[in-house]
Amino acid sequence: MLTQPVFVTQPYLPPLEEFIPYLQSIWDNKILTNGGAFHQQLEQALRSHLGVEQVALFSNGTLGLITALQALRVTGDVITTPYSFVATSHSLLWHGNRPVFVDVEPHTLNMDPARIEAAITPQTTAILAVHCYGNPCDVQAIQKIADNYNLRVIYDACHAFGVEDEGGSILRHGDLSVLSFHATKVFNTFEGGAIVCPDAKTKQRIDHLKNFGFVDEVTVVAPGINGKMSEVNAAFGLLQLKHMDTVMRRRAEVDAVYRAQLADVPGLQILPKGNQTVSNHSYFPVLVTPEFKVSRDALYEHLKVNGVNARRYFYPLISDFPMYRGLPSAGRDNLPVAARAADQVLCLPIYPALTAEQQQRVVDLIKSA
Ligand SMILES: *Cc1c(COP(=O)(O)O)cnc(C)c1O
Repeated sequence: MLTQPVFVTQPYLPPLEEFIPYLQSIWDNKILTNGGAFHQQLEQALRSHLGVEQVALFSNGTLGLITALQALRVTGDVITTPYSFVATSHSLLWHGNRPVFVDVEPHTLNMDPARIEAAITPQTTAILAVHCYGNPCDVQAIQKIADNYNLRVIYDACHAFGVEDEGGSILRHGDLSVLSFHATKVFNTFEGGAIVCPDAKTKQRIDHLKNFGFVDEVTVVAPGINGKMSEVNAAFGLLQLKHMDTVMRRRAEVDAVYRAQLADVPGLQILPKGNQTVSNHSYFPVLVTPEFKVSRDALYEHLKVNGVNARRYFYPLISDFPMYRGLPSAGRDNLPVAARAADQVLCLPIYPALTAEQQQRVVDLIKSA
């Protein structure tokens, strides 16, 4: 019997016919980009959906990260995590900053505030932290350090769409937060992203920077980039937003089934939930410890040959890539918790269209490894 392959993630696509009227409107108006009607509508819709002050849309999250650094005029060294997608550190290199890697905490795999403080030097100007898997960083501790040492704080919140703590959206923390709307993320616009910022003045500067630095027809104030989101992407975002309740509900159900079914598997460690009050269930990471029957990579292969695509996310560590491994902070002895997580982590399939049968197959394969 042939069975359909199971993916690690699959984008949520609303029915195609629902998208046609949006396309018709674009065809009628002939405005394809540069802050058209859908772009403005999506910014407003996200402000209210997320409960944040200001949103500046981008063509992807990586350009959002680079522009966030430019908007805050970040110079010199930036303290960051090796346990993330490579775009986190790449944004620093693109902006001419030196990454300084610090280790993560074992239970959240987010940057350890005590390590941040120990890594500060006179060259340090900012902290670039990641809400890994959508679990919030220790935002209070990080802000306290930033205030004491006069550092800027940027959150790579690419995993954290819709996540809330007691005070509301976690995107309100730090100076700026950056989202990704890539096809693999919880909320997608095919490609896309956004910077969340606290005030209209900052948003205006960001809007100039994402449009080559143009302030008006004849005035360019900075070497800005082309980071604009197109009308097709913005329109798709508006449509996708209408379906987010369904998406979140299905993800929560998948998450709950894994937690129940895998709780007692010897040697398999489910990463505990963070201190958020609203989760987005963006990933389902497990740690395959040495007490498990087989190695992480053997389990990964076992799933793969049986049509289940899990993902070693994040592996390798960013600090092990050639453009980073020569940095003084990149040694594995400086980053033991992150290094162990990279060697043990496996993210299991989680997405709205994953069926109960498919999920059972994933569970059964893990148990039979
Ligand atoms: C997806 C992701 C990015 C990059 O976002 P793009 O929209 O693909 O450019 C950056 N950081 C993290 C943590 C991500 O998961």
